[in-house]
Amino acid sequence: MNALIEAAERSRRGRLRTFVSGPESEPVRLFDRSRRCSPGDWFGEHAGKWLITASLAATRAQDDELAARVASVADWLCDQQDSNGYLGTYDPGSPARFDRMRAQDERTWDLWNAACTMLGLTVASQQFEQSRWMDAANGIASLIHVEIFDRGMDPVLLGNHAGLSSCAILEPLARLASLGSTQAAQTATWIVDRLESAEAIRLVSAPLEGVDAARIGTGKIYQLCWVYHGLALLSESVGDTRMLRAAERFWANVAEHHLTPLGGPWGGIATHKEVFNPQGYFNPSGLVETCSSLAWLRLSLELDRLTGGQDGACPSKYRQAAEVTAMNQLLGAAFPNGLDWSYFSMPNGPRSVAYDWACCKSSGAWGLEEAARLLTPDTDIAGDVQVLRAAEHLAHHEHDVFHREFFALQRGATVYAMEPLDGFQFEATIRLPVLFPGSYVHSDGDRLVVTAPGHEPIWFTPYRDAGLQRPDRWRITWVPVVWQ
Ligand SMILES: [Zn+2]
Repeated sequence: MNALIEAAERSRRGRLRTFVSGPESEPVRLFDRSRRCSPGDWFGEHAGKWLITASLAATRAQDDELAARVASVADWLCDQQDSNGYLGTYDPGSPARFDRMRAQDERTWDLWNAACTMLGLTVASQQFEQSRWMDAANGIASLIHVEIFDRGMDPVLLGNHAGLSSCAILEPLARLASLGSTQAAQTATWIVDRLESAEAIRLVSAPLEGVDAARIGTGKIYQLCWVYHGLALLSESVGDTRMLRAAERFWANVAEHHLTPLGGPWGGIATHKEVFNPQGYFNPSGLVETCSSLAWLRLSLELDRLTGGQDGACPSKYRQAAEVTAMNQLLGAAFPNGLDWSYFSMPNGPRSVAYDWACCKSSGAWGLEEAARLLTPDTDIAGDVQVLRAAEHLAHHEHDVFHREFFALQRGATVYAMEPLDGFQFEATIRLPVLFPGSYVHSDGDRLVVTAPGHEPIWFTPYRDAGLQRPDRWRITWVPVVWQ
């Protein structure tokens, strides 16, 4: 059994049975008609994400008990749907509800939450062939059509990050369109038009003109990957190849300029910790949000499916990228108890546990299930070791005032990290000949060891396995080096 399946199994027995155990669980109860709230927030995303993940896990593992829990949650959610199709966490008097005109002036996560709920009901319906749940998803989509298409609500004004948060609704709409809903296709196309005409975004034109991902909207990683996923999927239903090319160009830009070696899109130093860093920036402690890893993984797998590996590589560049993300970034954010996840992971930095309601815990579990379903990476890590190199620069008046070089080790899809002896930050610089690795890197089972003259042997374990001994234990992927 490969590492992805093992981790997905731990999650199925752990988080998927505890965070939500049925309709009485708090993430689901937020939708209770009698208990909806007025300001509302993004926490409504968890129920939909759980439905997706638990449906896929129950089907994969033929887990009848989990399937029964999915059915009870989905049925209960359907019971909470209003007659106009509204199924959310905001009470009828809330000005932030997307079916209230004032929502455009309010802080609202209503459409974002709706994206997760619609996708959850759609995936559950597909897994268990329950038309009632699909009808509920279509009911939400119809209300969105009425509000956005007929009444002229601007989807770009219904969420933060220049509207990228609300426009995540594109993917579930595109999914309903791919299942035959012409109304959902019409709404989704309209949202694309709005995102194209928004000067700060220009969803289709910007990547086709070579605009860097960090400069599209606010550069928010999770949202951008999700919106481009929706755009790629919609291209199939409406036969617009320009949409697909735009998504592919966005993907190529991220792959070239915005990934850590572990396969995660990284941020940390720009206007917000979760937006893309400027192109060319390097820091060994760059942050990767687990939600961003999920969105990148799903975008990569969708593009793999839509393009059918047309780049001639086998597996395609999209599938290879998804494997690297799953085997390093995703597994490296999961804890072996099947419950906990890191919010941020870094190539060099501590492995720490996110708070209970963190978005990343639901995203991590979802990503694992998608990866376990669609990927069977070769975990036999034989093959040549690649040495990756990078340099960190700090410039002042265009003069290089600070400069550090680093190397990292990769074999197949697996990236390695060293664990400092004291368990905390320890980035001691080592000196190595420029001809490294030559004969200095050896494998010992799952591990690698660097034996350079004048040094104690340095042991490396796969990043995903490193740092588990105690909380906040460091992993060092980029090793500072002086080349001689
Ligand atoms: Zn997150």
